Amino acid sequence: MILIIDDSVDTIRLLNSMLTEQGKILFAINGEAGIRLAKLQQPALILLDVEMTGMNGYEVCAALKADPITRDCAVIIITAHVGMEHEIAALEAGAVDFISKPFNPPVVRARVQTHLRLQQQAAMMRQLANRDGLTGLYNRRYLDEVLAQEFERHRRQQLPLALAIIDVDHFKAYNDHYGHPQGDACLQGVANAINSGARRPGEWVARYGGEEFAVILPYTDAAAAEGYGQWICEQIQALQIPHQGSTTAPTVTISVGLVSLVPTLQSSMQQLVAAADQALYQAKTDGRNRAIVHHCS
Ligand code: GH3
Ligand code: MG
Ligand code: MG
Ligand code: MG
Repeated sequence: MILIIDDSVDTIRLLNSMLTEQGKILFAINGEAGIRLAKLQQPALILLDVEMTGMNGYEVCAALKADPITRDCAVIIITAHVGMEHEIAALEAGAVDFISKPFNPPVVRARVQTHLRLQQQAAMMRQLANRDGLTGLYNRRYLDEVLAQEFERHRRQQLPLALAIIDVDHFKAYNDHYGHPQGDACLQGVANAINSGARRPGEWVARYGGEEFAVILPYTDAAAAEGYGQWICEQIQALQIPHQGSTTAPTVTISVGLVSLVPTLQSSMQQLVAAADQALYQAKTDGRNRAIVHHCS
């Protein structure tokens, strides 16, 4: 998808006619409307005019790059000026390329095609970088990124954010008894169940470590977090994966540590994780196959 932001309808028309073969095209006739549309649609590529009333192209580009929702959209600046200072300004604002007016249609098409292809590759790399290879869930690095954003969002809104850390019980014994490949298959089964158990919008599931998973539960107070924890324990038990090495149950079980808090300026994401970890430890020592909510003092 390509978004054209230009205050000249003639230019939009012209570019549109050159690029109809290259994908779906959206347009906006000023910077503010362009940013709104980019946030909504997240186009792969944005063709952005420099001279516009209101925000100019450099300002629009900088705003797009500062927002995590639109920062991955590639921006090509369109300018009637040639010269090093204009090129530098475009690149400094975060553009990947520029096209000068008057347009040379084959050049425009070639540049657009190149950047669309690069964007596709970059999207694939991002996808790989964010995922865990064994389970297909998000990885820890990505979860930490999302958690930081959610923490800030809940702090601004002053609403409770919950985190669950889930650990498979006696998993070393599972590997010892059934072998590592079946251990992997077991982790995939547990991962699937946790992932399909995240049914509310905005819930994020990640593989947090070897046999550990983490779930971000937005807008969730302590009582609801506890409900989720008990429910997910039951879901894993219901898988009925035999586990002869377990001293807790004849099948695979999990322990869950949870915490819910309304973030303040004094609290940190690290405290949230530490509290969930502490609750998990408590769930283990209390006998496993259970969910414990950390009580913030
Ligand atoms: P607890 O109930 O206290 O959690 O005991 P546990 O045995 O589950 O905990 P421990 O930390 O001693 O062992 C975790 C095991 O998970 C050890 C490790 O070999 C296994 N593990 C970690 N990652 C993988 C993986 O990717 N595949 C397999 N098959 N096993 C893994
Ligand atoms: Mg203009
Ligand atoms: Mg563990
Ligand atoms: Mg374990």
